[in-house]
Parts: sequence; structure tokens; C-alpha cells
Amino acid sequence: MRCPQCGTRDTRVIDSRDLDDSATIRRRRECASCATRFTTYERVEAARLVVVKRDGTRQEFDRAKLASGLRKALTRRPVPDGAAEQAADEIEAELRAAGAGEVPSSRIGSRAMEKLREIDQIAYIRFASVYQSYDDLEDLKREVDSLYATRGAPEEQS
Ligand SMILES: [Zn+2]
Repeated sequence: MRCPQCGTRDTRVIDSRDLDDSATIRRRRECASCATRFTTYERVEAARLVVVKRDGTRQEFDRAKLASGLRKALTRRPVPDGAAEQAADEIEAELRAAGAGEVPSSRIGSRAMEKLREIDQIAYIRFASVYQSYDDLEDLKREVDSLYATRGAPEEQS
């Protein structure tokens, strides 16, 4: 780290501590040449995307799980191959573009429902009421599985 005062590269860390959420490290440095002291902040480069569930637990965003939930909702609907994957990609891109490191699961859920509504009205209507009372897509998948188990294949109607 170059000294901001004299440009010397020979500086040393005299203090180092985690800030707030431990995502940032603050270092106090001192120039070996002119003794100027300055501060640097170090952050993780690749921003993680963490999902905060309603009960407060956190987990890494899982695009594959989101895609699988969407695919499940679109089962047997006349939609293009890869529609669920594309929707999951778009949702992830939106979340990352928003720049927040942590996203409530409810926001992902509502974005997923909006995507479903764009893709297929029936899939949306069929699953909206079920989905909205559940915390994440794992719950949705479980619920859908049990729906299919009790009712058989979803009726084809519009
Ligand atoms: Zn210096």
C-alpha cells in the first residue's frame, strides 16, 4: 500500500479490526519513511447474495433452487423450454443489480410470482395463493408435490 503523503510503498499495518457486520476490515497503516498514518478499508470483492428468511435465518442465494421451484410451478404448462431457468437468471440479475448483499426471501418470492404471471397466467393463478403463505421455494415445492400427490396431474384448462 502506497503512502498517500510521500508515495513510499513501504507501509506497515499498525492496527486491524472488523467493522460492523465483519464484511469490512479497517486497517491503520503507518508509512515507514515519513511516519504518516492513514486508514484503509478492505471488503470482500465478490458481493455475496444472502437470503434472509422470515425467521431471521440466512442462507446463500441458490439460483438452482429458485429455478427448480419455478419449473415445478410451470409443470405441464405450454411454455418454452428453459422458461424457468431464464426467469431465475433474470431474478438473480435484478437482485444483484440492486446491490444489496442481503435480500428478504419474501422479495424473491414476490419477484418469482411476478415472473410466473408474465410467463403463464394459469401457473400463476394456480400457485399464487399457495405460494404466498410460504416462506421460500422449498416450502412451495413441498406443497406442490403434495397437491400433485393428492389430485394427480393438474387439469388442463384455461
Ligand atoms: Zn510516507
